[in-house]
Amino acid sequence: MPPVSAPKYDHYDIVFIGGGSGGVAGSRRAASYGAKVALIEATPKLGGTCVNVGEYNVLPLTTSVVQWLARAALGAFAHVIPSRLAPVAENGEQQLPFRRAETANGMRPTHESQIRGELCYFLTATGCVPKKIMWHAADIADKIRHAEGYKFQGPGIGHPQFDWKTFKPQRDAYIKRLNGIYDNNVTKEGVDYHHGTAKLISPKEVEVTHPDGKKYVLKTDLVCVATGGRPTLPSEEQIPGASLGIDSDGFFDLEEQPKRVAVVGAGYIAVELAGVLNTLGTETHLIIRHEHFLRTFDPALYETLGSWAEHTGIHIHKQSKVVRVDGQKGQTLTVHTDKGETIQVDTLIWAIGRHANTEGLGVEELGVKLDKKGDIITNEYQESNVPGILAIGDVQGRALLTPVAIAAGRRLANRLYGPPKYKNDKLSYEDIPTVVFSHPPIGTVGLTEPEARKKYGDDIKIYKSSFRALYFSMVPEKEKEPSVYKLIVTGPEEKVVGIHIIGLGSDEVIQGFAVALKMGATKEDLDNTVAIHPTSSEELVTLR
Ligand code: FAD
Ligand code: NDP
Repeated sequence: MPPVSAPKYDHYDIVFIGGGSGGVAGSRRAASYGAKVALIEATPKLGGTCVNVGEYNVLPLTTSVVQWLARAALGAFAHVIPSRLAPVAENGEQQLPFRRAETANGMRPTHESQIRGELCYFLTATGCVPKKIMWHAADIADKIRHAEGYKFQGPGIGHPQFDWKTFKPQRDAYIKRLNGIYDNNVTKEGVDYHHGTAKLISPKEVEVTHPDGKKYVLKTDLVCVATGGRPTLPSEEQIPGASLGIDSDGFFDLEEQPKRVAVVGAGYIAVELAGVLNTLGTETHLIIRHEHFLRTFDPALYETLGSWAEHTGIHIHKQSKVVRVDGQKGQTLTVHTDKGETIQVDTLIWAIGRHANTEGLGVEELGVKLDKKGDIITNEYQESNVPGILAIGDVQGRALLTPVAIAAGRRLANRLYGPPKYKNDKLSYEDIPTVVFSHPPIGTVGLTEPEARKKYGDDIKIYKSSFRALYFSMVPEKEKEPSVYKLIVTGPEEKVVGIHIIGLGSDEVIQGFAVALKMGATKEDLDNTVAIHPTSSEELVTLR
């Protein structure tokens, strides 16, 4: 179902701004209780960062090309030019399929210019789903190598040849199908879905600017901001040549597999993208500021993964900061570090964190308190300091994960419009399980060892097992991935307060054990559970 182009109601109960994981889930749940709900999404597709691929924008001729020219004439946005123009669609709209608007020197315009300029308002978004598909592709490459050990024969066995060029459009086509499902689901639930850029003009009024330039105002009791975030990039002033690099959105836009890549950063995205590229055969450099990546995870995890990543050929440049980048886009780039190293690559990816989409939203003008990254500060009920303005998901800066945004949106809707049993419903941000899709994958929930020591002092006990999954028994020694399973317990009853696992299948194993931890399981509870054999997960119920 297409979005509506005018408000259905004179007054809404709640308006959700942002049709990503949080906004879609929250609006659907609220509408399911009979609330009058609007959902506003700036890009042409629902789904947000988790599913979307870089999408072209559809702007009517009058407000796109003419606006471009007018602004260019005024000089305000003369540096921003579309890369190419497309034919007029059947509905009379001019399609501008610039996968990205480009600046004169081939760079992306900043998000600020997108927001201010409207003409290139679109936000490219890429996240969990295309990432996981790439992880599966890399995993298959590993399996093709391992197949030799299992005595499979035939052309290609042992020597994976990945065709990125044909795989990418197939991956993107799958994502497009998901977008359609999102659109249908919100309208089926009775959500009034608006396509346009939202701006708060008061706590009870949201202005929607439709891509055709038409503006209208939705009146509402409550506003829930769910505008997500975007990659943080260093400026040219901070690092000359920084704009020669791309971010994670740019990674998903790559039409060809880079031969040599440098990834800068030490969090989820840097580790996942470096892992995928290295496993698919790209010469991969990971540049980190400290001795380890994933420093906020349990040391058993980052130490194990760090050694294995180096063993598999990732060049980890430790204690290193990028100070300059030379070269030209599309050609060899030279990345200079503060240790005097020069690294030659085709592609440079910045993965140094993300920050909230709050600029241009009108929240600051209304007195909504933001932290220094621009995240909206919320209390346990997702409320900002301004009555009536709520925030969920990445925009409020806590636990930037899809299921967290979804859970926060649903619980908020439960509390506001659900049956009495939900009158205090809220999301607990404690003990959120999470996975890093590295090679091998990481699963983790609860306190890390340093956190547990800080909280409980010496009253903790560590159970740990290091092993090789049975699967690797048939592959050469150098290809046998490590597994490390670690349990942190406290008190005489040995309550489980942390579970940290790395190794084949950890991404799937952790969910069930997270349930146990959430329910307050003790070591004895785990021991009393009969093992499933032969599996890796049985290690967690047989630790000594
Ligand atoms: P988003 O999904 O970002 O949605 C925000 C929406 O608001 C967007 O559609 C945007 O267009 C819209 N918007 C912004 N401003 C306006 C405006 N003014 N008016 C109208 N609409 C607006 N999480 C996981 O749990 N597992 C993973 O494996 C995982 N992998 C990831 C991989 C990558 C590369 C990235 C970048 C993220 C990944 N994440 C993962 C994180 C996950 O994608 C986010 O936590 C999640 O999408 C946040 O949902 P959200 O609803 O808060 O925001
Ligand atoms: P993260 O916040 O996870 O990590 C970024 C890291 O980069 C920082 O922790 C820091 O590590 C390092 N860094 C920061 N600034 C710089 C700099 N100027 N130069 C070099 N390194 C720097 O951000 P990501 O972008 O990786 O991911 C954003 C969020 O998206 C994640 O936090 C996660 O919540 C979510 N996500 C979830 C995934 C999943 O569930 N599997 C996958 C991908 C993303 P240090 O201080 O050690 O240098």
